[in-house]
Amino acid sequence: MRAMVLEKPGPVEQAPLILDEVTLPLPRAGEVRVHVRCCALCHTDLHTVEGDLPLPRLPLIPGHQIVGLVDAIGEGVRTLKEGDRVGIPWLYSTDGQCDYCRRGLENLCDHAQFTGYHVDGGYAEYTVVHEDYAYPIPKVFSDQNAAPLLCAGIIGYRSYRLSNIRPGERLGLYGFGASAHLVLQLAHHQGCEVFVFTRSQAHRDLATRLGAAWVGSAEDTPPHPLDGSIIFAPAGSLVPPALRVLRKAGTLALAGITMSPIPQMDYSLLYHERVIRSVANSTREDCRDFLDLAAAVPLHTEVQVFELAQANHALQALKRSEITGAGVLRITN
Ligand SMILES: [Zn+2]
Ligand SMILES: [Zn+2]
Repeated sequence: MRAMVLEKPGPVEQAPLILDEVTLPLPRAGEVRVHVRCCALCHTDLHTVEGDLPLPRLPLIPGHQIVGLVDAIGEGVRTLKEGDRVGIPWLYSTDGQCDYCRRGLENLCDHAQFTGYHVDGGYAEYTVVHEDYAYPIPKVFSDQNAAPLLCAGIIGYRSYRLSNIRPGERLGLYGFGASAHLVLQLAHHQGCEVFVFTRSQAHRDLATRLGAAWVGSAEDTPPHPLDGSIIFAPAGSLVPPALRVLRKAGTLALAGITMSPIPQMDYSLLYHERVIRSVANSTREDCRDFLDLAAAVPLHTEVQVFELAQANHALQALKRSEITGAGVLRITN
């Protein structure tokens, strides 16, 4: 099968992913093989390809927002059959036994494995997954519109939940890429006013079109203090200005897997019971709940489509914030 393979991480400008022919994977007991239709891009792919994250194995096929059709079934699979359309997200497996799993925090599992990181992912024509970690895709979404829901959407949803924002409140979003454009719609659906902080004019235009109450830069002061905020951009320098416009007892959620250092700041920015918290991965329950909600709204995903062989080019565009909405690799038609 064709795949974009990472043999040695490096700056995306140097095109570290190589188009190659690799062995077709076979599903083991409990697993299904998925014929991949498309795979959306995530900032984590960029951090993987560039080696910002320690890589557990090489060579590696990245990609963890996969939509495809089940085309082979391993022994004992009960919930899926050939031809089913499924999505595969970042959470590939958990041990089900550690203290975090037992406390309902399988997103923090001590032995979690992640798609396109510990195991080969979706920048390929086929991939395999355990049936318990693949999810039926609601019919209302096309393949390409569904793919960004699987990480941008789910992580956005978990960040939104952990920001403690309630219906009708004011939510701030810092950075306006794939995740934020979905959270905006979700928050809007729940009667929240959304304030978007981004420099990019294209991103501001999209935010306005999707119903943002206000758009500006991180240094700007919105007309009202915010009840909760989420930082999607991997920039620690956004933390102090975000706290400055957050009301007392408000929560600032940090959605990224990495972030540049958070500058030293005055305690008064945090005082009055403001909360800063990070968001890490997601649970299977997040995934199921979010896909139901996404179909009920229904969320509109703005996508920019690239061919599989253009993956390096697509990641370069992501790095430069040149993608409006979410980038998606088309793999089979
Ligand atoms: Zn565990
Ligand atoms: Zn991701």
